[in-house]
Amino acid sequence: MRATQPQLHTYLEVVMSENRYRIDCASTPNESGCTLVIEGPDDDVLDAAVEHARSKHGHTDPADVVRESLRARLEPV
Ligand SMILES: [Zn+2]
Repeated sequence: MRATQPQLHTYLEVVMSENRYRIDCASTPNESGCTLVIEGPDDDVLDAAVEHARSKHGHTDPADVVRESLRARLEPV
């Protein structure tokens, strides 16, 4: 059993790190000077980022279009 524990630990670390993403408003120049960072599982980050982009940055494209453009900006954490 002892030999399996490091493997499990490594596996969990990989899974968790692969599921964590960040979008940093400061990484893209914006008129409002927004520096908000949203971090978490990719779908949750995208949900929050779409709302934020539309309410705070005046994006008027359909939510799914905004979502796909934001997906390209996800940075693995
Ligand atoms: Zn912002």
